Amino acid sequence: MSDPNPVRPNPFTIAQRQLDDAAAIMKLDPAIHELLRWPLRELHVTLPVKMDDGTTKVFHGFRIQYNDARGPTKGGIRFHIGETVDTVRALAAWMTWKVAVMDIPLGGAKGGIICNPKAMSPGEIERLSRAYIRQVARMIGLEKDVPAPDVYTTPQIMAWMMDEFSMMQGYNEFGVITGKPLALGGSQGRGDATARGGVYCLREAQNVLGINLKGATQAIQGYGNAGTFAHKLGAEILGLKTVAVSDSKGGIYTPDGLDYEKVLEHKKKTGSVVGFPGTKPVSNKELLELDVTVLTPAALDGEITAENAPRVKAKLIAELANGPTTPEADAILQKAGSYVIPDFLCNAGGVTVSYFEMVQNAYDYYWDEERVQRRLDKKMTTAFHAVHETARKYKINNRMGAYIVAVSRVAEAVRLRGWA
Ligand code: GLU
Repeated sequence: MSDPNPVRPNPFTIAQRQLDDAAAIMKLDPAIHELLRWPLRELHVTLPVKMDDGTTKVFHGFRIQYNDARGPTKGGIRFHIGETVDTVRALAAWMTWKVAVMDIPLGGAKGGIICNPKAMSPGEIERLSRAYIRQVARMIGLEKDVPAPDVYTTPQIMAWMMDEFSMMQGYNEFGVITGKPLALGGSQGRGDATARGGVYCLREAQNVLGINLKGATQAIQGYGNAGTFAHKLGAEILGLKTVAVSDSKGGIYTPDGLDYEKVLEHKKKTGSVVGFPGTKPVSNKELLELDVTVLTPAALDGEITAENAPRVKAKLIAELANGPTTPEADAILQKAGSYVIPDFLCNAGGVTVSYFEMVQNAYDYYWDEERVQRRLDKKMTTAFHAVHETARKYKINNRMGAYIVAVSRVAEAVRLRGWA
Protein backbone atom coordinates (compact mmCIF):
# COMPACT_ATOMS: atom_id res chain seq x y z
CA MET A 1 0.00 0.00 0.00
CA SER A 2 1.38 3.41 -0.80
CA ASP A 3 2.25 5.66 2.04
CA PRO A 4 -0.70 7.90 3.01
CA ASN A 5 1.87 10.70 3.41
CA PRO A 6 0.60 13.06 6.09
CA VAL A 7 2.46 16.02 4.58
CA ARG A 8 0.52 15.87 1.32
CA PRO A 9 -1.17 19.25 0.68
CA ASN A 10 -4.89 19.36 1.52
CA PRO A 11 -6.60 18.60 -1.82
CA PHE A 12 -9.83 20.38 -0.94
CA THR A 13 -7.95 23.60 -0.16
CA ILE A 14 -6.31 23.19 -3.57
CA ALA A 15 -9.65 22.56 -5.33
CA GLN A 16 -11.15 25.69 -3.73
CA ARG A 17 -8.10 27.74 -4.61
CA GLN A 18 -8.23 26.62 -8.24
CA LEU A 19 -11.89 27.64 -8.39
CA ASP A 20 -11.09 31.00 -6.77
CA ASP A 21 -8.41 31.65 -9.41
CA ALA A 22 -10.81 30.77 -12.24
CA ALA A 23 -13.60 32.85 -10.68
CA ALA A 24 -11.32 35.90 -10.67
CA ILE A 25 -10.37 35.45 -14.33
CA MET A 26 -13.95 34.91 -15.50
CA LYS A 27 -15.46 37.49 -13.09
CA LEU A 28 -17.88 34.91 -11.73
CA ASP A 29 -20.93 36.17 -9.85
CA PRO A 30 -19.87 36.20 -6.13
CA ALA A 31 -22.92 34.24 -4.88
CA ILE A 32 -22.46 31.52 -7.51
CA HIS A 33 -18.76 31.43 -6.69
CA GLU A 34 -19.45 30.94 -2.98
CA LEU A 35 -22.02 28.20 -3.72
CA LEU A 36 -19.57 26.35 -5.97
CA ARG A 37 -16.85 26.38 -3.29
CA TRP A 38 -18.76 23.80 -1.20
CA PRO A 39 -20.37 20.37 -1.53
CA LEU A 40 -24.17 20.45 -1.46
CA ARG A 41 -24.48 17.22 0.58
CA GLU A 42 -22.25 14.83 2.52
CA LEU A 43 -22.94 11.49 4.17
CA HIS A 44 -20.43 10.07 6.67
CA VAL A 45 -20.94 6.36 7.34
CA THR A 46 -19.66 3.85 9.90
CA LEU A 47 -19.48 0.26 8.71
CA PRO A 48 -19.18 -2.81 10.96
CA VAL A 49 -17.75 -5.71 8.96
CA LYS A 50 -17.26 -9.36 10.00
CA MET A 51 -13.66 -10.31 9.28
CA ASP A 52 -12.51 -13.81 8.33
CA ASP A 53 -11.04 -14.40 11.81
CA GLY A 54 -14.45 -13.94 13.42
CA THR A 55 -13.83 -10.43 14.78
CA THR A 56 -15.82 -7.37 13.74
CA LYS A 57 -13.92 -4.38 12.39
CA VAL A 58 -15.45 -0.92 12.14
CA PHE A 59 -14.65 1.10 9.00
CA HIS A 60 -15.46 4.70 8.10
CA GLY A 61 -16.54 6.01 4.73
CA PHE A 62 -18.06 8.97 2.90
CA ARG A 63 -20.30 9.82 -0.04
CA ILE A 64 -20.24 13.43 -1.09
CA GLN A 65 -22.52 15.02 -3.68
CA TYR A 66 -20.82 18.21 -4.72
CA ASN A 67 -23.21 19.80 -7.20
CA ASP A 68 -26.18 18.45 -9.15
CA ALA A 69 -27.32 21.59 -11.00
CA ARG A 70 -26.72 19.90 -14.39
CA GLY A 71 -28.04 16.42 -13.55
CA PRO A 72 -27.69 13.43 -11.21
CA THR A 73 -24.27 13.29 -9.58
CA LYS A 74 -21.58 10.84 -10.70
CA GLY A 75 -18.22 9.73 -9.39
CA GLY A 76 -16.17 6.79 -8.23
CA ILE A 77 -15.61 5.12 -4.87
CA ARG A 78 -12.06 4.79 -3.54
CA PHE A 79 -10.77 2.20 -1.09
CA HIS A 80 -7.66 3.75 0.41
CA ILE A 81 -5.89 3.76 3.74
CA GLY A 82 -5.09 7.46 3.38
CA GLU A 83 -8.66 8.49 2.52
CA THR A 84 -9.86 11.70 4.18
CA VAL A 85 -13.07 13.65 3.97
CA ASP A 86 -11.22 16.53 2.33
CA THR A 87 -9.80 14.24 -0.35
CA VAL A 88 -13.31 13.04 -1.16
CA ARG A 89 -14.60 16.65 -1.18
CA ALA A 90 -11.87 17.67 -3.63
CA LEU A 91 -12.49 14.67 -5.85
CA ALA A 92 -16.24 15.39 -5.83
CA ALA A 93 -15.55 18.98 -6.89
CA TRP A 94 -13.23 17.79 -9.68
CA MET A 95 -15.95 15.33 -10.84
CA THR A 96 -18.33 18.30 -11.13
CA TRP A 97 -15.88 20.13 -13.39
CA LYS A 98 -15.04 16.91 -15.26
CA VAL A 99 -18.56 16.12 -16.41
CA ALA A 100 -19.15 19.81 -17.19
CA VAL A 101 -16.00 20.17 -19.32
CA MET A 102 -17.16 17.06 -21.25
CA ASP A 103 -20.65 18.57 -21.57
CA ILE A 104 -22.24 15.46 -20.05
CA PRO A 105 -25.63 16.12 -18.37
CA LEU A 106 -24.50 15.06 -14.87
CA GLY A 107 -23.19 16.56 -11.65
CA GLY A 108 -20.20 15.55 -9.53
CA ALA A 109 -19.85 13.26 -6.51
CA LYS A 110 -17.27 10.96 -4.92
CA GLY A 111 -17.11 8.22 -2.32
CA GLY A 112 -14.39 6.67 -0.24
CA ILE A 113 -13.73 4.14 2.50
CA ILE A 114 -10.70 4.29 4.78
CA CYS A 115 -9.30 0.76 4.43
CA ASN A 116 -6.35 -1.22 3.13
CA PRO A 117 -7.85 -3.54 0.50
CA LYS A 118 -4.47 -5.20 -0.10
CA ALA A 119 -4.59 -6.60 3.43
CA MET A 120 -8.18 -7.89 3.09
CA SER A 121 -9.55 -11.15 1.66
CA PRO A 122 -12.07 -11.09 -1.24
CA GLY A 123 -14.80 -12.07 1.25
CA GLU A 124 -13.93 -9.17 3.56
CA ILE A 125 -13.89 -6.75 0.62
CA GLU A 126 -17.29 -8.04 -0.50
CA ARG A 127 -18.83 -7.59 2.98
CA LEU A 128 -17.32 -4.09 3.26
CA SER A 129 -18.69 -3.15 -0.19
CA ARG A 130 -22.18 -4.39 0.69
CA ALA A 131 -22.11 -2.63 4.08
CA TYR A 132 -21.20 0.64 2.34
CA ILE A 133 -24.10 0.34 -0.10
CA ARG A 134 -26.59 -0.40 2.70
CA GLN A 135 -25.58 2.90 4.32
CA VAL A 136 -25.39 5.11 1.20
CA ALA A 137 -28.46 3.53 -0.54
CA ARG A 138 -30.62 6.37 0.76
CA MET A 139 -28.69 8.85 -1.32
CA ILE A 140 -27.76 6.96 -4.51
CA GLY A 141 -29.88 5.77 -7.47
CA LEU A 142 -29.92 6.30 -11.21
CA GLU A 143 -31.82 9.55 -10.91
CA LYS A 144 -29.84 10.78 -7.89
CA ASP A 145 -26.21 9.70 -7.80
CA VAL A 146 -24.35 6.94 -9.66
CA PRO A 147 -21.05 5.58 -8.25
CA ALA A 148 -18.25 3.87 -10.24
CA PRO A 149 -14.75 2.43 -9.75
CA ASP A 150 -11.76 4.50 -8.69
CA VAL A 151 -8.53 3.78 -6.79
CA TYR A 152 -8.48 0.07 -5.73
CA THR A 153 -12.12 -0.63 -6.68
CA THR A 154 -12.91 -3.04 -9.50
CA PRO A 155 -15.75 -4.26 -11.78
CA GLN A 156 -16.27 -7.16 -9.32
CA ILE A 157 -16.79 -4.67 -6.47
CA MET A 158 -19.25 -2.74 -8.68
CA ALA A 159 -21.15 -6.03 -9.27
CA TRP A 160 -21.48 -6.68 -5.52
CA MET A 161 -22.60 -3.11 -4.92
CA MET A 162 -25.18 -3.24 -7.72
CA ASP A 163 -26.44 -6.56 -6.35
CA GLU A 164 -26.80 -5.23 -2.79
CA PHE A 165 -28.69 -2.15 -4.00
CA SER A 166 -30.95 -4.22 -6.29
CA MET A 167 -31.75 -6.64 -3.45
CA MET A 168 -32.74 -3.70 -1.25
CA GLN A 169 -35.06 -2.31 -3.96
CA GLY A 170 -36.56 -5.70 -4.83
CA TYR A 171 -35.72 -5.40 -8.54
CA ASN A 172 -32.59 -5.14 -10.69
CA GLU A 173 -31.27 -1.62 -11.05
CA PHE A 174 -28.16 -2.07 -13.17
CA GLY A 175 -27.92 1.68 -13.83
CA VAL A 176 -27.27 2.49 -10.16
CA ILE A 177 -23.57 1.97 -10.69
CA THR A 178 -21.16 1.94 -13.66
CA GLY A 179 -17.92 0.16 -14.44
CA LYS A 180 -19.76 -3.15 -14.01
CA PRO A 181 -18.67 -6.42 -15.67
CA LEU A 182 -20.11 -6.90 -19.19
CA ALA A 183 -22.33 -9.77 -17.99
CA LEU A 184 -24.18 -7.37 -15.65
CA GLY A 185 -24.87 -4.37 -17.85
CA GLY A 186 -21.34 -3.05 -18.17
CA SER A 187 -20.29 -1.19 -21.32
CA GLN A 188 -17.85 -2.29 -23.97
CA GLY A 189 -14.81 -0.06 -23.81
CA ARG A 190 -15.18 1.00 -20.14
CA GLY A 191 -12.07 -0.92 -19.06
CA ASP A 192 -9.53 1.15 -20.96
CA ALA A 193 -11.64 4.33 -21.30
CA THR A 194 -9.72 6.54 -18.84
CA ALA A 195 -6.37 5.95 -20.52
CA ARG A 196 -7.90 5.99 -24.02
CA GLY A 197 -9.35 9.45 -23.39
CA GLY A 198 -5.93 10.66 -22.22
CA VAL A 199 -4.23 9.21 -25.30
CA TYR A 200 -6.78 10.97 -27.55
CA CYS A 201 -5.86 14.22 -25.74
CA LEU A 202 -2.16 13.57 -26.41
CA ARG A 203 -2.98 12.93 -30.08
CA GLU A 204 -4.77 16.30 -30.27
CA ALA A 205 -1.92 18.00 -28.36
CA GLN A 206 0.44 16.80 -31.13
CA ASN A 207 -1.73 18.56 -33.66
CA VAL A 208 -1.99 21.91 -31.86
CA LEU A 209 1.69 21.89 -30.88
CA GLY A 210 2.87 20.71 -34.30
CA ILE A 211 4.89 17.79 -32.91
CA ASN A 212 5.02 14.06 -33.62
CA LEU A 213 5.03 11.66 -30.68
CA LYS A 214 5.91 8.54 -32.69
CA GLY A 215 8.94 7.03 -30.95
CA ALA A 216 8.87 9.70 -28.20
CA THR A 217 9.50 8.57 -24.61
CA GLN A 218 6.92 8.31 -21.83
CA ALA A 219 7.20 7.73 -18.04
CA ILE A 220 4.10 6.54 -16.18
CA GLN A 221 3.66 6.90 -12.41
CA GLY A 222 1.10 4.36 -11.19
CA TYR A 223 0.36 1.00 -12.78
CA GLY A 224 -3.31 0.45 -12.00
CA ASN A 225 -6.13 0.64 -14.55
CA ALA A 226 -5.17 4.05 -15.98
CA GLY A 227 -1.39 3.49 -15.95
CA THR A 228 -1.38 0.05 -17.55
CA PHE A 229 -3.69 1.10 -20.38
CA ALA A 230 -1.72 4.34 -20.91
CA HIS A 231 1.29 2.11 -21.54
CA LYS A 232 -0.62 -0.16 -23.96
CA LEU A 233 -2.62 2.47 -25.86
CA GLY A 234 0.25 4.99 -25.89
CA ALA A 235 2.18 2.43 -27.93
CA GLU A 236 -0.75 1.25 -30.06
CA ILE A 237 -2.31 4.61 -30.94
CA LEU A 238 0.63 7.02 -30.83
CA GLY A 239 3.77 4.85 -31.09
CA LEU A 240 5.01 6.14 -27.71
CA LYS A 241 7.98 4.34 -26.15
CA THR A 242 7.35 3.88 -22.42
CA VAL A 243 10.75 3.83 -20.71
CA ALA A 244 9.66 3.92 -17.05
CA VAL A 245 6.69 2.79 -14.97
CA SER A 246 6.08 2.54 -11.24
CA ASP A 247 3.60 1.31 -8.67
CA SER A 248 3.29 1.77 -4.92
CA LYS A 249 6.33 -0.45 -4.33
CA GLY A 250 8.72 1.42 -6.67
CA GLY A 251 9.59 1.86 -10.32
CA ILE A 252 11.65 0.53 -13.23
CA TYR A 253 13.51 2.24 -16.06
CA THR A 254 15.15 1.20 -19.31
CA PRO A 255 16.04 3.48 -22.23
CA ASP A 256 15.16 0.60 -24.60
CA GLY A 257 11.45 0.78 -23.76
CA LEU A 258 9.19 -1.58 -21.83
CA ASP A 259 6.91 -4.21 -23.33
CA TYR A 260 3.38 -3.79 -21.93
CA GLU A 261 2.42 -7.45 -21.86
CA LYS A 262 5.65 -8.60 -20.25
CA VAL A 263 5.56 -5.93 -17.53
CA LEU A 264 1.93 -6.71 -16.75
CA GLU A 265 2.68 -10.43 -16.55
CA HIS A 266 5.56 -9.71 -14.14
CA LYS A 267 3.27 -7.55 -11.98
CA LYS A 268 0.59 -10.24 -11.94
CA LYS A 269 3.15 -12.84 -10.88
CA THR A 270 5.09 -10.84 -8.29
CA GLY A 271 2.60 -8.16 -7.20
CA SER A 272 4.76 -5.29 -8.51
CA VAL A 273 6.59 -3.95 -11.55
CA VAL A 274 9.75 -3.82 -9.38
CA GLY A 275 12.48 -6.27 -10.38
CA PHE A 276 11.41 -6.60 -14.02
CA PRO A 277 14.44 -8.11 -15.81
CA GLY A 278 16.78 -5.77 -17.69
CA THR A 279 15.65 -2.58 -15.91
CA LYS A 280 17.18 -0.16 -13.42
CA PRO A 281 15.18 0.62 -10.27
CA VAL A 282 13.81 4.18 -9.93
CA SER A 283 11.77 5.59 -7.06
CA ASN A 284 8.34 7.10 -7.63
CA LYS A 285 9.89 10.54 -7.02
CA GLU A 286 12.79 9.97 -9.44
CA LEU A 287 10.41 8.79 -12.16
CA LEU A 288 8.74 12.23 -12.22
CA GLU A 289 12.09 13.86 -12.99
CA LEU A 290 13.24 11.59 -15.84
CA ASP A 291 14.27 13.14 -19.13
CA VAL A 292 11.22 12.03 -21.16
CA THR A 293 8.89 13.76 -23.61
CA VAL A 294 5.63 12.70 -21.95
CA LEU A 295 5.10 12.36 -18.21
CA THR A 296 1.90 10.56 -17.23
CA PRO A 297 1.06 10.75 -13.53
CA ALA A 298 -1.54 8.00 -13.04
CA ALA A 299 -1.38 7.44 -9.26
CA LEU A 300 -2.51 9.79 -6.50
CA ASP A 301 -2.94 13.51 -5.84
CA GLY A 302 -0.23 15.92 -4.67
CA GLU A 303 2.73 14.30 -6.48
CA ILE A 304 4.12 17.26 -8.47
CA THR A 305 4.79 20.05 -5.99
CA ALA A 306 6.80 23.29 -5.71
CA GLU A 307 9.67 21.15 -4.43
CA ASN A 308 10.10 18.83 -7.44
CA ALA A 309 8.41 20.79 -10.28
CA PRO A 310 11.64 22.69 -11.16
CA ARG A 311 13.24 19.31 -11.94
CA VAL A 312 10.42 17.96 -14.12
CA LYS A 313 11.85 17.74 -17.63
CA ALA A 314 8.87 16.45 -19.62
CA LYS A 315 7.37 19.04 -21.95
CA LEU A 316 4.01 17.25 -22.09
CA ILE A 317 2.22 16.18 -18.93
CA ALA A 318 -0.86 13.98 -19.27
CA GLU A 319 -2.59 13.93 -15.89
CA LEU A 320 -4.45 10.63 -15.66
CA ALA A 321 -4.50 10.84 -11.84
CA ASN A 322 -6.88 13.22 -10.12
CA GLY A 323 -5.09 16.24 -8.62
CA PRO A 324 -1.45 15.21 -9.20
CA THR A 325 -0.16 18.81 -9.50
CA THR A 326 -0.36 21.54 -6.85
CA PRO A 327 -1.08 25.18 -7.85
CA GLU A 328 2.51 26.19 -6.97
CA ALA A 329 3.83 23.44 -9.25
CA ASP A 330 1.42 24.55 -11.98
CA ALA A 331 2.94 28.04 -11.97
CA ILE A 332 6.46 26.58 -12.22
CA LEU A 333 5.52 24.24 -15.10
CA GLN A 334 3.76 27.06 -16.94
CA LYS A 335 6.87 29.27 -16.70
CA ALA A 336 9.01 26.40 -17.97
CA GLY A 337 6.73 26.12 -21.02
CA SER A 338 5.36 22.64 -20.27
CA TYR A 339 2.04 21.72 -21.85
CA VAL A 340 -0.15 20.22 -19.13
CA ILE A 341 -3.31 18.31 -20.09
CA PRO A 342 -5.19 18.88 -16.83
CA ASP A 343 -6.66 16.00 -14.85
CA PHE A 344 -10.36 16.61 -15.21
CA LEU A 345 -9.98 16.81 -18.99
CA CYS A 346 -7.23 14.20 -19.46
CA ASN A 347 -8.86 11.47 -17.35
CA ALA A 348 -12.48 12.20 -18.32
CA GLY A 349 -12.67 9.20 -20.66
CA GLY A 350 -13.67 6.97 -17.74
CA VAL A 351 -16.71 8.95 -16.70
CA THR A 352 -17.64 9.56 -20.33
CA VAL A 353 -17.94 5.82 -21.00
CA SER A 354 -19.66 5.50 -17.59
CA TYR A 355 -22.24 7.94 -18.91
CA PHE A 356 -22.58 5.80 -22.07
CA GLU A 357 -23.05 2.81 -19.74
CA MET A 358 -25.89 4.62 -17.93
CA VAL A 359 -27.53 5.45 -21.26
CA GLN A 360 -27.27 1.81 -22.43
CA ASN A 361 -28.67 0.55 -19.11
CA ALA A 362 -31.58 2.98 -19.36
CA TYR A 363 -32.72 1.79 -22.77
CA ASP A 364 -31.47 -1.75 -22.37
CA TYR A 365 -29.72 -1.80 -25.71
CA TYR A 366 -25.97 -2.29 -25.90
CA TRP A 367 -23.42 -0.77 -28.25
CA ASP A 368 -20.39 -2.46 -29.79
CA GLU A 369 -16.90 -1.35 -28.83
CA GLU A 370 -16.37 0.54 -32.04
CA ARG A 371 -19.40 2.76 -31.39
CA VAL A 372 -18.25 3.45 -27.80
CA GLN A 373 -14.76 4.41 -28.96
CA ARG A 374 -16.01 6.59 -31.80
CA ARG A 375 -18.31 8.53 -29.46
CA LEU A 376 -15.61 8.79 -26.80
CA ASP A 377 -13.19 10.16 -29.39
CA LYS A 378 -15.69 12.81 -30.48
CA LYS A 379 -16.37 13.90 -26.88
CA MET A 380 -12.67 14.01 -25.92
CA THR A 381 -11.61 15.85 -29.08
CA THR A 382 -14.33 18.49 -28.69
CA ALA A 383 -13.50 19.05 -25.01
CA PHE A 384 -9.75 19.17 -25.66
CA HIS A 385 -10.10 21.94 -28.25
CA ALA A 386 -12.59 23.91 -26.14
CA VAL A 387 -10.02 23.93 -23.31
CA HIS A 388 -7.04 24.67 -25.57
CA GLU A 389 -8.85 27.56 -27.28
CA THR A 390 -10.09 29.05 -23.98
CA ALA A 391 -6.57 28.91 -22.53
CA ARG A 392 -5.21 30.68 -25.61
CA LYS A 393 -7.94 33.30 -25.63
CA TYR A 394 -7.38 34.29 -21.99
CA LYS A 395 -3.58 33.65 -22.13
CA ILE A 396 -3.80 31.27 -19.18
CA ASN A 397 -2.74 27.68 -18.62
CA ASN A 398 -4.86 24.72 -19.71
CA ARG A 399 -6.05 23.98 -16.16
CA MET A 400 -7.56 27.45 -15.86
CA GLY A 401 -8.90 27.08 -19.40
CA ALA A 402 -10.64 23.86 -18.36
CA TYR A 403 -12.03 25.53 -15.22
CA ILE A 404 -13.48 28.39 -17.25
CA VAL A 405 -15.21 26.05 -19.72
CA ALA A 406 -16.59 23.84 -16.90
CA VAL A 407 -17.52 26.49 -14.34
CA SER A 408 -19.33 28.61 -16.97
CA ARG A 409 -21.59 25.63 -17.73
CA VAL A 410 -22.34 24.85 -14.08
CA ALA A 411 -22.84 28.55 -13.30
CA GLU A 412 -25.34 28.90 -16.14
CA ALA A 413 -27.36 25.94 -14.81
CA VAL A 414 -27.26 27.34 -11.27
CA ARG A 415 -28.44 30.75 -12.50
CA LEU A 416 -31.21 29.36 -14.74
CA ARG A 417 -32.50 27.22 -11.87
CA GLY A 418 -32.74 30.33 -9.72
CA TRP A 419 -30.29 29.12 -7.05
CA ALA A 420 -28.23 32.30 -7.11
N1 GLU B 1 -13.45 7.39 -10.88
C1 GLU B 1 -13.38 7.86 -12.22
C2 GLU B 1 -13.02 9.33 -12.26
O1 GLU B 1 -12.38 9.86 -11.37
C3 GLU B 1 -14.64 7.51 -13.01
C4 GLU B 1 -15.91 8.03 -12.44
C5 GLU B 1 -17.15 7.48 -13.12
O2 GLU B 1 -17.00 6.69 -14.04
O3 GLU B 1 -18.22 7.84 -12.68
O4 GLU B 1 -13.31 10.01 -13.21
